[in-house]
Amino acid sequence: MTAYAFPVPPVPAVPVRGSGALYPVSRIFCVGRNYAAHAREMGFDPDREPPFYFMKPANALVASGSTVAYPPETANYHYEMELVIAIGRPAFRVAPEQALDAVWGYACGLDMTRRDLQIKAREMGRPWDLGKGFEESAVIGDLVPAADIGHPSSGAITLSVNGVEKQNSDLSKLIWSVPEVVAHLSRYFHLGPGDLIYTGTPEGVGAVVAGDRLEGAIAGVGSITFTIGPAE
Ligand code: MN
Repeated sequence: MTAYAFPVPPVPAVPVRGSGALYPVSRIFCVGRNYAAHAREMGFDPDREPPFYFMKPANALVASGSTVAYPPETANYHYEMELVIAIGRPAFRVAPEQALDAVWGYACGLDMTRRDLQIKAREMGRPWDLGKGFEESAVIGDLVPAADIGHPSSGAITLSVNGVEKQNSDLSKLIWSVPEVVAHLSRYFHLGPGDLIYTGTPEGVGAVVAGDRLEGAIAGVGSITFTIGPAE
């Protein structure tokens, strides 16, 4: 028998709304620039180039309702309100027409971003990890099963900071829809239970500071809150 040299870290997991169950997370994929108006505000032309991805470690997850410290080594900490897909069945090289069969549920998410570090990395042709994959950067609300709510393809997606609305768009404006994202990503990975996909943020991203309270919502999916605490 082999023992672990250190205690096994807890499995990152997301509560399922209306049940005591937890959805265990193994990987977090994120889609870049998936709303045209956000691509433009970041200085890009939103033509239908293929989607691109970055990842966050699963232990970057933090539950809705949390307060976290303003993160280190940034002076430009941004919110990005997003629809999150939770995969529930194996999917490898699936067609868009079959992709929704692999989707188990949805959640509200915040792709928290150290924008200064992301932009510096982008300009230098370096990976985005320092800007995107840091601790407590993947905020998530309760998962809701597609069996209960269906597969949302339209509906308002909003975010406010201290009660002032900052983002207000519609899921119908996703450049790459949920089935298209799942199908495309399944060309590169054997997707399966435990995989989350943050689908991208609409326009209106911006910086937050200690003391700010974020409240997001997606029609038919749910809501999410997040509070920024003082830096350590
Ligand atoms: Mn994002």
